[in-house]
Order: sequence, then structure tokens, then C-alpha cells
Amino acid sequence: MRLIRYGKAGSERPGLMDAHGVLRDLSHVVPDIGPAQLGPDALAQLARLDTDSLDAVSGHPRLGCPVAGIGKCIGIGLNYTDHAQETGSPIPTEPIIFTKAISAIQGPDDDIMLPQGSVKTDWEVELGIVIGSRASYVAEGNALDHVAGFVLANDVSEREYQMERGGTWDKGKGCDTFGPIGPWLVTQDEIADPNNLDLWLDVNGQRMQTGNTSKMIFNVKEIVSYVSRFMTLMPGDVIITGTPPGVGLGQKPPRFLKAGDVVTLGGQGLGTQKQRVVGWRAL
Ligand code: ZN
Repeated sequence: MRLIRYGKAGSERPGLMDAHGVLRDLSHVVPDIGPAQLGPDALAQLARLDTDSLDAVSGHPRLGCPVAGIGKCIGIGLNYTDHAQETGSPIPTEPIIFTKAISAIQGPDDDIMLPQGSVKTDWEVELGIVIGSRASYVAEGNALDHVAGFVLANDVSEREYQMERGGTWDKGKGCDTFGPIGPWLVTQDEIADPNNLDLWLDVNGQRMQTGNTSKMIFNVKEIVSYVSRFMTLMPGDVIITGTPPGVGLGQKPPRFLKAGDVVTLGGQGLGTQKQRVVGWRAL
């Protein structure tokens, strides 16, 4: 299934994208797509629905983040060898983890707003893991049992805040609008191998990032197992798994986002996103 939340920010309704690409309303079936809908039993119940019997949604409504009530969003840093190299960083021997502020999360096509005075706002296309059931000290062999599915994410990052402001990385990861997620949450049954998915990102139509999750240093089950040793993962938590090479920081000379730029990105089975970059304003 491809689960979606659509409508105005803050009042999204649950839906799903059917096999023909038609958006169907789920608001008579579930109150939302959130922690209570992501466990194996709840997902199995949704999977039994006759999608043709659900109302088709007309027009092209705004899409929200496909998961409501995310409790935490954990990032994995430098998880692709060639991305670590382009940033001049050593290859990690254990996953680097950081927290992305929940207040940064938004819909897949919402504007990216440059922070006040920012000169180093950068892009990062990533595979995101959505947790479906509580995971604490899970073995790699069982880790995928705790995963509801996957999302596309843009881990927007302010490099000056991240690397030149005395630590930690969180300063450059959690600014408002820095967490576009979606368009949908795709359940595990529709992804043959999460460790073999193409990812790409363009800025103003120019290809900047091309990657495949097979190049991740730590794969999906390793990441879930590893993070679960440091914190209990709860339904609706999201882990973004790191970015392939081609970020702005790695360009020669470095290139960063400015107002008016358009960022488009996509992932195999994960859908696409499109964000316009705008200057800072009070929200
Ligand atoms: Zn990242």
C-alpha cells in the first residue's frame, strides 16, 4: 500500500494511492495515518480493503507528511562512503546518529524556507524508515519486523549551523521546513529490497545526486537494530538513512540553495517531491 495524508497543513485526511494511481479517501476507515495505524495488524486490516469502494479524491490536493504523530526523527550521518569523502569526513566505523527536530517536518512539496541569514542551505535525498512496532534491543534478524514501510525524505541541512557553530549537527538539521517527507508511506510488501533503491535529486532541473541504497555503509536492518540499542523506537518514529554523493557542500566550488531555486527528488517506489526555495519570513 501507498498511504497518504492530504489536505491543508494541520488538517490532513488519510488516504491511499490505489494500484491505478488514484488517490482514495480513507477518512471513513481510520482517523489518520499515525502510530495506531502502523502496526502489523492495523496494516493488514487496511490491506484487506477493496480500494475501488473508497471515494476517489478529486483534483490535486496538497500532500502532507504521510505519517502523523511522529515521535522522533533520527538521522544517520555519512552513511555512503562517497558522500563522506566529498565532505572531507572519515568513513564512520559505527553509524553516526543525530536528531532532526519534529517541527521541521512538512509535506513533500511544501516550500523550503531559508533560515534567517543562512548562506549554506543544502539538499540531501534519502530513504526513510518508518517504525511500525516498538523496538528495543532488536536483533538484525528481527529488525524488519518492526518496520511499517518506507518514505522519501529531503534531509535539508544548513552546513554552517551543522559544522561551524560548535556542535551538534542538530543545529543545522532542524530548522523550520527542513524535513519534507512523502509523498507516501509505502509498505514493506511493495518494496522488494530496500537496500537496492535508486535515489536522485535535481536543482533547477540539473541532476546533482544519483545514488542507490545498495551503497549504504549500514543497511536498513543494521540501522534499526543499532539505533534500538540507544533508544526505544516507537510506532511512527522515522529514521532517515543518509544521503548519496552530490550535495552542495561537495561541489567545486560549493553551491548552496537560494530563494527561487526548485529542488526535485525521487526514489524507486518512493515517489517524488518538488520544493520551491523561499527566503526567511516569520511563520
Ligand atoms: Zn542526511
